[in-house]
Amino acid sequence: MIPKVLEPLPYKEIKFYKERHKRVMFFDPFEIYHRISPLIDHYKRQQSIPVYEMFPHIDGYCACGCGSRLTGRQRVWASEDCSRFATNVRDIICGHLSTIDFYLQLYFDKWVCSVCGRDSGYVEWKNGLTVRDTHIDHKVAVMNGGGGCWLSNYQLLCHTCHKEKTKMDFCVNRKPTKIIPISHFKDIHEKRIIKLIIENTKSF
Ligand SMILES: [Zn+2]
Ligand SMILES: [Zn+2]
Repeated sequence: MIPKVLEPLPYKEIKFYKERHKRVMFFDPFEIYHRISPLIDHYKRQQSIPVYEMFPHIDGYCACGCGSRLTGRQRVWASEDCSRFATNVRDIICGHLSTIDFYLQLYFDKWVCSVCGRDSGYVEWKNGLTVRDTHIDHKVAVMNGGGGCWLSNYQLLCHTCHKEKTKMDFCVNRKPTKIIPISHFKDIHEKRIIKLIIENTKSF
């Protein structure tokens, strides 16, 4: 069983002005997570995993997985787009908020709370900046193992629902943590077990 927070985003029709954004948005990161599972700490908000660990060099071919042959002076990437694609994927997994925010804004046509549906818009003023009252929330909180997750672990919550949700995150943490081995990882990390708390938080 793959934790839901590492699954690709469900597909939906979106107008993209760059093909690369579509490729990132609906990318299936399973292989990458498989590759970096010894390096990632899902209880940390920020990860520092280099691109080459996620997209290792392939002799003669582009490292991004597009299948293009390297030509001339190309050493790793077949094009600028390939390198940017890989960097975007890395930034999402490493928890870079600006990249995550960018893709969520593209994905959700309306910036509304996913629990109560309230569109609270830009309401607060802080240091001369407008701050959205709708926050980006980790469905599975970092304290419960949702750090370093894919885009599918994010949702939009209004201030009120976010406060409620955070209280529940703490409750989940107080329950004994279920530990389930992930059979997909068995071949490579046979003795490795992964703390899987998704069972406890499925209802969000
Ligand atoms: Zn490529
Ligand atoms: Zn709400």
